[in-house]
Amino acid sequence: MPDCAESKKEMNRRTFVAALGAAALPLPLAAQELAGDGVVAAVNERLVRVLLASGDAVAEPKQIDAWHFSWNGRTYRGGYAYVQLASGRRGLINAVSLDDYLYGVISRELSPEWPKATQEAQAIVARTYVLSKMRPEKTYDVLTTDSNQRYAGITSESTAGRAAVDATAGTIVAYHGAPAQTAFSACCGGRTADSKDVWGSALPYLKSFVDPNCAGTPEYRWEAQVPYDTVQQILDLPRAGTLHGVELKNMTPSGRPRSVVFEGSASSVEVPTGELRAAAGMKVVRSTFLRTVTASAGGLTISGNGSGHGVGMCQWGAQRMGGKGASASEIVAFYFPNTTLGRV
Ligand SMILES: [Zn+2]
Repeated sequence: MPDCAESKKEMNRRTFVAALGAAALPLPLAAQELAGDGVVAAVNERLVRVLLASGDAVAEPKQIDAWHFSWNGRTYRGGYAYVQLASGRRGLINAVSLDDYLYGVISRELSPEWPKATQEAQAIVARTYVLSKMRPEKTYDVLTTDSNQRYAGITSESTAGRAAVDATAGTIVAYHGAPAQTAFSACCGGRTADSKDVWGSALPYLKSFVDPNCAGTPEYRWEAQVPYDTVQQILDLPRAGTLHGVELKNMTPSGRPRSVVFEGSASSVEVPTGELRAAAGMKVVRSTFLRTVTASAGGLTISGNGSGHGVGMCQWGAQRMGGKGASASEIVAFYFPNTTLGRV
C-alpha cells in the first residue's frame, strides 16, 4: 500500500538523520567524518556503510538532493562520507539504510526476470548477510563486489528487486534466535561446500550437502584454458621441471581438492587450489570444485563444477526451485538447514 510504503520511507529518512547526527547534516556530508560515536550510531540504527572506493584520487560525489547523490556515473540513496581506512588511505563510503541498501543489491545479484520466490529468498539471505557484517569497530561494513554482495546503488535497482525487499521486510535467517551467518554463491556445482573447509569455521547450517537443483544450469560445469605464462611464475611451476602429471589431492568431504600437485622431472610442486584459482583468475577458474587438471605444451586445461565458493545458498539452484513453485521460506530452509526465519 502506498501509504505504508511512504511511511516506511519517512522512517528510513528519520533513521538516517538520527544515525548520522546533527553534526553531519545538512548535507552534503562530503567533509564530514563518520567516525567514533557516529559509527556506533550508524550501526545501531542499521545504516549500512558501503565502501565505494579508496585512495586520494577518488572523484567527489555530487549531491542531488537531501537523500541522493551521484558518483562515478551512478546514483545512490543515502549519504556519503570519507573515512580513514586501516591502511591509512582515504575511503569513500555510502551510508544507507538497510533496505535501501538491499534495493541496490538484489538485482545486481540476480536477474529481475528470475522467479519472485527466488528474489525474496535472496533478499532474506542478503539482509541477514549484511547484518552479520555490521560492526562498529570497523570503518566500513561491506564492499560492492563479490567479496561481499554486489551493489551499485539506484542504478542497479529494479521494480522486482525492490518488491522482494519490501515483501520480506524485517525477515532474516535465524539460528537459535540470532541472525545466522549466511553465505551464497552463483552455483554450487551439485554439492555445496562446508564453511569449515572454505573459511575454517564450522556452522551447523553451512555444511556440505548434495544440491540436485542446479544440475544443467549455465554455471554448473565449466572448462578453462590457462596459459603457462599466466601462472607458472606465480605458482613456482618451473621448479617442477618438465611436467608429466597433475594430481588433485586432499579432497574435502564435498569433493573439492584442497591442493593440486604438479609432478615434474625435477620435483613435485603442491599448490593450494585457492592459489591456483587466484593465479589463473577468479572468473577463469570459477570455483575450487575442480574435476580435472591436465597439462599440455601450451598450458593447463582445467574443468570444474559451479561458480563461487559454494557455501550456503546456490543462486542457480534457488532459481530452479523458485521456478518449480517453491516459496522463499522453502528455498531458505533447503539451503540453510537447522535455521528458522526470524525478525530484526
Ligand atoms: Zn547448486
